Order: sequence, then C-alpha cells, then structure tokens
Amino acid sequence: MKNVKKILITGGAGFIGSHLCERLLKEGNEVICLDNFFTGSKDNITHLMGNPYFEVIRHDIEEPISIEVDEIYNLASPASPIHYQKDPVKTVRTNVMGAINVLDIAKRTGAKVLQASTSEVYGDPEVHPQVEEYRGNVNPIGVRACYDEGKRCAETLFFDYYREYGVDIRVVRIFNTYGPRMAMNDGRVVSNFIIQALKNRNITIYGDGSQTRSFCYVSDLVDGLIKMMNSNLTGPINLGNPEEFTILELAKKVVKFTNSKSRIIFKPLPQDDPKQRKPHITKAKIYLNWKPKIGLEEGLVRTIEYFKNKLRNKL
Ligand code: NAD
Ligand code: UDP
Repeated sequence: MKNVKKILITGGAGFIGSHLCERLLKEGNEVICLDNFFTGSKDNITHLMGNPYFEVIRHDIEEPISIEVDEIYNLASPASPIHYQKDPVKTVRTNVMGAINVLDIAKRTGAKVLQASTSEVYGDPEVHPQVEEYRGNVNPIGVRACYDEGKRCAETLFFDYYREYGVDIRVVRIFNTYGPRMAMNDGRVVSNFIIQALKNRNITIYGDGSQTRSFCYVSDLVDGLIKMMNSNLTGPINLGNPEEFTILELAKKVVKFTNSKSRIIFKPLPQDDPKQRKPHITKAKIYLNWKPKIGLEEGLVRTIEYFKNKLRNKL
C-alpha cells in the first residue's frame, strides 16, 4: 500500500494554495490547509471539504503551531501589492515569523519545508532576465519593501536553518502567476484587466504600459512546486513563464479575448514598480525537468471563462 503523506499548506485557501491542495489530494495525500483568511477564501476550498483526507485550520502563521507532518508548503502571505501594503508591518511579521514557525515545525518533526519566495527578491532588476545568482535591487525603505524584504529575510532564515540545524529546505522564487480563483478584489494586473474588460469599464494601466512582466498559468506553477518538493535541491530556483509582455500588450489581449468595449486609460505608476521582469528558468528545466506548458493566450481564455462565471453568479 502507498504510504500516505501528511502535507501542511499554509495559505492553502488562497489562489495558488487552493490549487495545490486540490492537486496533492488528487495524488492521494492527506492535506492540512492552514489559513487566516486574510486574502484567501472558503469559496476556494469548499469543493474539497467533503474529502476525509482534507482538513482546514484557521490560524495565523505569525503564531507558533504544533503539528506532525511530512511536508510543508509555506505560502501564507498576501501577494498583491494593494493587500501587502495595507498593513505592511503585519506583512513583515507574516513572512518572518511565519518562516520561523514553519521551520521550527520542520526542525522538530524532520519534515521537508518549501518556501514560496518571489521574483520580488530581485526588486527593480538591473539584470535581465533574472538568474538565481542575481542578488537584486530592492529599495529597503520603499512601500514594497515589507513584502520584498520580508521574503528575502525568509530566504535567509531557510538557509540558516539548513546550515545550522540541517533542516530539509526547498526555496522557489515564483514569478507573476495568474488563473482561476484569483480573488475579485485581488488587485493584480491580470484579474483587474479581465474584470474591467468584462464589465466594459476603463482598463487602468499604471504608467505608460511599457513595463514588462512574464505570466505563468497556475497549473504550470503547481507542477513546478511539487517537482521542487520531490527533488533533493535546496534552491533557490526560479519558477515562471519566460514569455515576456508589456502591460499594454496584456491590456490589448484582454480586450480582444473578451470582445470588450473598454477603453484603455493611463494612471500614475506606483512607487518602485519594477520596469521589467522575466525569469531565467534553465535551472528548473535541467534539474526539475520542468517548463511551463500553457501560453498566455490559452491561460487568459481559461481565466476569462472563470471570471465570466463568477460575475454571472453574482447577479
Ligand atoms: P493569495 O493572497 O491568494 O494567497 C495567500 C494566502 O495566504 C491567503 O489564503 C491568505 O489568507 C493567507 N495568509 C496571509 N497571511 C497569513 C497569515 N499571517 N497566516 C495564515 N495565512 C495567511 O496569494 P497567492 O497569489 O496565492 O500567493 C501565494 C504565495 O505565493 C504567497 O506566499 C506569495 O507571496 C507567493 N507568490 C505568489 C506570486 C503570484 O504571482 N501569485 C508570485 C510570487 C510569489
Ligand atoms: N498594473 C496596472 N494596472 C492594474 C494593476 C497593475 O497597470 O490595474 C501594473 C503594475 O503597475 C505593474 C504590473 O501591472 O507594473 C504588474 O502588477 P501586479 O500588481 O500584478 O504585480 P507586480 O508584478 O507588480 O507585483
């Protein structure tokens, strides 16, 4: 008989976390979803509630918790700029105390622990595309620092627990990921543009739209997270789709695929907004045999379908 693994997913009721819960349950594991529901939602996981191998714990990862598991995916942290900047001190605490708390569980139980780090550790990058060796260009006193430095400190803690206590760590740096179950009020660019387009409202580009991002569809990202957990690498490893687009190109694609009457308008660029971002994914390709399968157009069509249904059901 297959040995059933017990897996803890912090932030499991969020956008990426809920997809990960679903996948790991499908693969025959026991999944414990821990969340404080700050940006996550029960709607994302209600379809899993009847599964006897699924359990939900309402808990803030800032506080220690005692739990016996084989693997931990640490995803608890707001990820959208509007949410992580709402209470920046809390964002730092979630990332730093959260890392210490999951690492302490791993240290005590011998569990493997994976940290969902971010391309934001590279800040406004001067190296393009971003390789894992690049140490980044973060403004430590800017409005994005609570998230960027919180995640950087979490990486530091992971590597210190690895060196000092031999904890079995994995660190992945996730680049812009999108797809179904992003919250309606998430505020990140893909969901904002799709919702605006479906409502025929103005599409709000911040700045002149020449800044770039590289968008990864959520199922690809989840594949990468699981491959990383099952590897024997510590990382850090970039996970993202290396196809790069300007924000203006993204807006035009969304208008086209939604057949929208929306106009594109321009608003001020937020402080420290990175000008370019594209992952270098050679390491993931070689060591994890991973590369994204879903291009932006296909991913957008799927995501548009999700939001169409969401909006229809709200009426
Ligand atoms: P999300 O906001 O949908 O999910 C985050 C989840 O963490 C939510 O369910 C939220 O309620 C929970 N959470 C927040 N603070 C918590 C706390 N103190 N205790 C317990 N739970 C808490 O965002 P997401 O896009 O699913 O991101 C998941 C993880 O991946 C985050 O750590 C994020 O930093 C990382 N990441 C995401 C992206 C992306 O593009 N989506 C890119 C880089 C990194
Ligand atoms: N953006 C935009 N309009 C929006 C939301 C975001 O033009 O309604 C821009 C934002 O300024 C940034 C890019 O889109 O340049 C990606 O923003 P997001 O918040 O999705 O993620 P980031 O990569 O900045 O963390």
